[in-house]
Amino acid sequence: MDRILVSACLLGRRVRYDGRAKTSDDALLTAWRSEGRLVSFCPEVAGGLPVPRPPAEIEAGAGGEAVLNGTARVLRPDGGDVTDMFLIGANAALTTARSFGVRMAILKEGSPSCGIFRIYDGSFEGRSVAGEGVTAALLTANGIQVFGEDDLGAAAAHLAHLEGTGEHRADTHP
Ligand code: SF4
Repeated sequence: MDRILVSACLLGRRVRYDGRAKTSDDALLTAWRSEGRLVSFCPEVAGGLPVPRPPAEIEAGAGGEAVLNGTARVLRPDGGDVTDMFLIGANAALTTARSFGVRMAILKEGSPSCGIFRIYDGSFEGRSVAGEGVTAALLTANGIQVFGEDDLGAAAAHLAHLEGTGEHRADTHP
């Protein structure tokens, strides 16, 4: 059975910067949870950041890939540099994923760690830009397919593919 790495805040863990969760009540997540598929993980907490904590954004509209290659930092509103914690957390997420044989993840959109398609632009003025968070970028770079919490239909299709349903269907065609 394929395991799925999931942002802990989507599973009701109160680990967000504001001390809250962002619980998803999606039926697919509920079903996968009851099957024992889900591996709950918060990269920011794993990186050593407290709950609650100041918000953080990747500077200058850059994305997680730029943080991974050392050309952008993750900053707090006061200018405090939390890049190292974000990198530690991303690497811990990858290590955990590998330890469970994880090939896909469901992550919280908009987060500087977990965002898939959208993150904030570093201005702390609520402006979002296209881009992915640090953990999402590292997982993607290591072959783990990531999905946002609003894209669980696509995640379910990918899971079916991983577990052979897709190949089986393809094999039935001449
Ligand atoms: Fe949720 Fe990811 Fe932020 Fe942790 S780092 S609170 S799992 S979005």
